[in-house]
Amino acid sequence: MTYDGFDTMPIAGQWRVGRLGETADDVDPWSDDVLVRLPLANADDADAAFRGAADAQPDWAATLPTERAEVFHRAARIMEDRRDEIVDWLIREAGGIRPRAEWEWTAVRAVLLESASYPTRAAGAILPAALIPGKENRVYKRPLGVVTVISPWNFPLQLSARSVAPALALGNAVVLKPASTTPITGGLLLAKILEEAGLPPGVLSVVIGPSRELGDVVVTHPLTRFVSFTGSTPVGEHIATTAPMTRRALELGGNGPLLILDDADLEAAVDAATFGSFFHQGQICMATNRVVVADAVYDEVVDRLTERVRALVTGDPKDPATQIGPIIDDDQLGHVLDLVERAEKDGADVRVRGERSGPAGRVLGPHLLLGTNDFATAAEEVFGPVATVIRARDDDDAVRIANDTEYGLSSAVFSRDVERAVRVGLRIDAGMTHVNDTTVNDEPNTAFGGEKGSGIGRFGGEWAIDEFTTDHWIGVQHTR
Ligand code: NAD
Repeated sequence: MTYDGFDTMPIAGQWRVGRLGETADDVDPWSDDVLVRLPLANADDADAAFRGAADAQPDWAATLPTERAEVFHRAARIMEDRRDEIVDWLIREAGGIRPRAEWEWTAVRAVLLESASYPTRAAGAILPAALIPGKENRVYKRPLGVVTVISPWNFPLQLSARSVAPALALGNAVVLKPASTTPITGGLLLAKILEEAGLPPGVLSVVIGPSRELGDVVVTHPLTRFVSFTGSTPVGEHIATTAPMTRRALELGGNGPLLILDDADLEAAVDAATFGSFFHQGQICMATNRVVVADAVYDEVVDRLTERVRALVTGDPKDPATQIGPIIDDDQLGHVLDLVERAEKDGADVRVRGERSGPAGRVLGPHLLLGTNDFATAAEEVFGPVATVIRARDDDDAVRIANDTEYGLSSAVFSRDVERAVRVGLRIDAGMTHVNDTTVNDEPNTAFGGEKGSGIGRFGGEWAIDEFTTDHWIGVQHTR
């Protein structure tokens, strides 16, 4: 049996329609087919979700850690049983090709299994008193309470699950606001899976509606203790100013550089650059936005990359041959085309210019530009199928170019001398650098996050446990 009821959302333990009085059509970005018409939530719905979450949270936090863990083990098994259904939704709603949807499915299952380990791993500490005789300091790791999760549309299920699963596993309740373009894969599907896995009613609510109605409400609600936001840097900055005293993790935009040093394996580097720039149409925070190439190998890299990019196949994401599918919506498409136009006006050499196609005109063929870090496609996050190749004099110049951006999320360095690449990597102001690999990498158990305008906080492993709990010091005087 497949899931249904996607025209309702779980609010305080009940699947019901939103009460804004407006509906939104959730469309397949390739065909414009309407997948569901969803009555949207209003601020009162969000308030009900927070109150329901606050009511449900203490009992949920009090369940045995092994029982909480079992919910996530069951959820991972449900992911397996419903693999085809989930992958199909990811292709249709997010517009990604099948390998991308399958990659996202794998990442979500991994994050559920990683989260299943948290209830028994969240350890506090007992410390001797440094100043007071007879005293003992205990530091308990406790849930935060109600957590707000706001997620984007590009990897909707994974980027919701990456916050929701650890937060819940550690005994919090969650109010999730997914992106309006991906309400099913960003929110409702995850709620169905966790409900089927035995998550008690009310512990997870999903509110779907316009940001103008719900944005500030879910960030500033008096019952929220933590905002886990994944999305663009301007919205992240807005959240930081609207709720200055609310704890938060902000996973924001990127402008990933992939550095090809003069001793690199060029075939491997070109492979990784092609994948990093064009996988999911470049709509990835870790995408390779800039390919920074040592002078000595620049011409050869440009030739190989041109050949590779020209060969990329565009089309229907459901067609197994397709490598580049549609961009999520017309606004995003317009943004990408505008950046290319500005770069070209400033003198960028457009080596490959992909065509627009598809029934809704949202497939944009790949673009390869040769230029400098000042051109719009290199200076800004494109979030589209566009790569800019930049020449670097030497390693120092490559590092300077890599760091000449407001962002600092993912990056990559290619060199046959791994330690040289690590030394260069450590000079990049970024949260993540991959040696001889693509910039697009995610693992559930290691530190994922950014520096500078790319955000605050880390996901994965111990880092997620620290994010989604608080430390409570209980001082015990034994001699009285
Ligand atoms: P966005 O910032 O426009 O939207 C993200 C989410 O925030 C959506 O749910 C949206 O409805 C909501 N939102 C918008 N305005 C809001 C407001 N005022 N208050 C509260 N919520 C609000 O981003 P997007 O276009 O959905 O996603 C693309 C961006 O996300 C890119 O910049 C990308 O790099 C970034 N991203 C970052 C990561 C990461 O892990 N660092 C991962 C994926 C995407």
